[in-house]
Amino acid sequence: MIVDSLQNRDHKTIAGLQKLRFFPNSIVGGHGCHVVEEDGRRLLDFSASWGAASLGYSHPAVVDAVSCALQNQAGASILSAVNQPAVELAERLLKIVPNSQDNRVWLGHSGSDAIEAALRSIMAASNRSRIISFVGAYHGGTTGSMSISGHSSQAAAPKYTGSLFLPYPDPYRPFMGDATGQKVLELLDYHLSTDCPADQIAALFIEPIMSDGGLIVPPPGFLKAIESRLRPHGVLIVCDEVKVGMGRTGMWHCFEHENIRPDMVVMGKGLGGGLPLSAVVGPEKILNVAQAFAMETTCGNPVCTSAGLGVLETIQNENLIEHARETGDFILTELRNWTDSCSLVGDVRDVGWQSA
Ligand SMILES: *Cc1c(COP(=O)(O)O)cnc(C)c1O
Repeated sequence: MIVDSLQNRDHKTIAGLQKLRFFPNSIVGGHGCHVVEEDGRRLLDFSASWGAASLGYSHPAVVDAVSCALQNQAGASILSAVNQPAVELAERLLKIVPNSQDNRVWLGHSGSDAIEAALRSIMAASNRSRIISFVGAYHGGTTGSMSISGHSSQAAAPKYTGSLFLPYPDPYRPFMGDATGQKVLELLDYHLSTDCPADQIAALFIEPIMSDGGLIVPPPGFLKAIESRLRPHGVLIVCDEVKVGMGRTGMWHCFEHENIRPDMVVMGKGLGGGLPLSAVVGPEKILNVAQAFAMETTCGNPVCTSAGLGVLETIQNENLIEHARETGDFILTELRNWTDSCSLVGDVRDVGWQSA
């Protein structure tokens, strides 16, 4: 009997809508930072499935947490019953977000649904009509999250009425030739003083490092300058930490490098350690604005939230934040050595480092 390859079977069955394939990989298993292909080839995976597999694949902490939660399953949802892993995860998330005394946690499945819950609850709690976000920003693939995304792949998606997209300050390909971010701030000031008064703006959504829009590290002080312009006017700062959070940049949250204090923090990808899980941490008055307002049936699922607990515990117990810092330094140094003499490589960057 001739067995069709996984590639062919995938081609005949799975919708192209959700494919963003760079290589013809067919994965049949994985452990740690390796995945195994159908033909037995073992690959070192630098992508961690877009950052979702924050502890690598089949990490014992996630395997244990998930197995335990499934063997005595405390329901499937948080909508109409409390469950312990969801509450414990929320308690832990509140502890790792600075200054979150009067905050609450919203639990979801993906960065997109979390961004969407943040956006909808902010708009419901506010009598302001405008949102600021950035050209190049990727905030998700649902209608609401796309409406505040400025990523080129979503240029055709309808945008949020009243949204203002600013250029993201890029030291390597600077807006108006200015690598410091000052010109972007001037543009913001111009809008604030003309067509977009601060008291009409409900929130600003920002990736503290722009990820899919080019892995752009903003110039030092930029986030702080944004915060000091907008906070006095009651504009909420929402940090999208979906890609760059969970310790990956050598801090729990990427925004900590810039020492800002966002009003809301959105987490996803690595939070679930490979399972679907996301969270919004934000003010009680927003995340309690209404009951039964932003729900999906399996929100707060005990299996996924247990995985999240396993991830948070492991990041702490195994000092993975420090490890990320050390590994990052090592890779950065090596990359610079390799690429110094390579004219095709224009820039090597990490957080805190700007091209000269
Ligand atoms: C991936 C991503 C999202 C969307 O998350 P999904 O899990 O794909 O829905 C949102 N924001 C950022 C910054 C992301 O990288």
